[in-house]
Amino acid sequence: MTEVSLQQVVKNYGQLEVVHSIDLEIKDSEFVVLVGPSGCGKSTTLRMIAGLEEISGGTIKIGDRIVNDLPPRDRNISMVFQNYALYPHMTVRDNLGFGLKIAKLPESEIGRRVDEAAEILGLGLYMDRLPAALSGGQRQRVAMGRAIVRKPDVFLFDEPLSNLDAKLRGQMRTEIKKLHKRVNNTIVYVTHDQVEAMTLADRIVIMRDGHIEQVGTPLDVFDNPANIFVASFIGSPPMNQLDGKVVGDEKSGLQIALADNIQIPVPTRAQKSVTKGQAIIVGIRPDDLTPVGHGMMDAGETVSFDLTVSISEPLGTETILFSSIGAKEVQGKMLNPRPIEGDERFTFNLSLDRVHLFDAESGMNVLGDQNG
Ligand code: ADP
Ligand code: MG
Repeated sequence: MTEVSLQQVVKNYGQLEVVHSIDLEIKDSEFVVLVGPSGCGKSTTLRMIAGLEEISGGTIKIGDRIVNDLPPRDRNISMVFQNYALYPHMTVRDNLGFGLKIAKLPESEIGRRVDEAAEILGLGLYMDRLPAALSGGQRQRVAMGRAIVRKPDVFLFDEPLSNLDAKLRGQMRTEIKKLHKRVNNTIVYVTHDQVEAMTLADRIVIMRDGHIEQVGTPLDVFDNPANIFVASFIGSPPMNQLDGKVVGDEKSGLQIALADNIQIPVPTRAQKSVTKGQAIIVGIRPDDLTPVGHGMMDAGETVSFDLTVSISEPLGTETILFSSIGAKEVQGKMLNPRPIEGDERFTFNLSLDRVHLFDAESGMNVLGDQNG
C-alpha cells in the first residue's frame, strides 16, 4: 500500500515562499494530477515528494514512512521528466537496464525486467537503437520504461508530454492511462494542460500561486468549481463570465440582472445562497448556452433570451457561436449545426441547472465548495 501524504508542506527559496503550507492525501493506486498555470509550484511540489528539493516545513509521508530526510534513492519512487534524460551513447536496452545495473541487480533479473517493460511499452523492435534514432514518442516511452523497471511504489511525472506534438500527445496520454491500469501504481503527474489533467486523473489538484485551490474528480471540478479561478481554468472553450447583480425579492424569487436588460432567475438551488444587491459573476459554459432546437435534450430549468451572433466557428459536430452581452463577449454552442451567414439573431436557451454563481468580491462559488 503506498499512499502519499503532504501535511502543511512549505517551500522557501531564500526569503521567497513559493509553496504555502499545502495538505494533500493521495490514495494507494490513485492517479493524481497537479495542474495550474506556469510558476504555481507544481514542479516544486513534485520534486519535494521525490526528494530532489528539501522541504522548508511540514511532513511528507510515502507509505508508512516519513521521508522528509530520506534521499531520493531511498524513497522507492521513479521520476519521468519532460526532457527524457536518456544516455545518448547507450542503446535502448542499456538505457532501460542502466539503473538496475548500478543497483547491482543480477543480470538475469535485469534482463527479465527490461524485457517486461519493453513488452508493456511496445519497444521490442527498437532495443538495439541509440536514442538519436528514435522519434520523440519512442524516446518518451524509453524514459517511462526506465521508470517501470525499477518497480517503484510511486511514479512521478513532470510534464512528460510537453515536448511532443498534439497528435502524439493524445496517443501517449492513452498509453499512460493504459500503463496505470496495468501496473496500478500510485502516480503523481504534473501538467499545465487542463485537458491532459481532465483525461488522465482520478483526482485533479488545481494549484495557483503556491496554494491548492481545489481537489476533486474531473467531473467534480468541472461541475462544481469552488471559485472563479478553477471555473475559468478548467473547460474549453472557457466559461463565460458575466457581471450581474441580485434583484427582485425573496417572495417572487430572486433574479440576476445582467447587461442589456437581460434578467435570469436565480436557480432554485441557489435562492438561499445569495442576497438582494449582491454583486455576482455568472459563469456559463458555452455548452449550456444553445440556440433553441440546437442544444442538449435534458434541459431542465431554463431561461431564454435573444442574442445576435456575429461570428461562428463550425467544427463539424458543433459550431461555436460568438455574441455579446454588454461589453462582454459570450460564446455559445450550436449542436447539430446548420450553416450561418452574416449576423443572425437567435433565441438562446440557458440551462439554469448548470449556471455557476460566484460572489464578485471573493470569487467564491456562492454554493461553497461542494466537494468538501
Ligand atoms: P511550475 O512547475 O508550476 O511551473 P515551479 O514549481 O517550477 O512552477 O516554480 C514555482 C515558483 O518557484 C516559481 O515562481 C519559480 O520562479 C520559483 N522557483 C523555482 N525554482 C526556484 C529556485 N531554484 N530558486 C528560486 N525560485 C525558484
Ligand atoms: Mg514545472
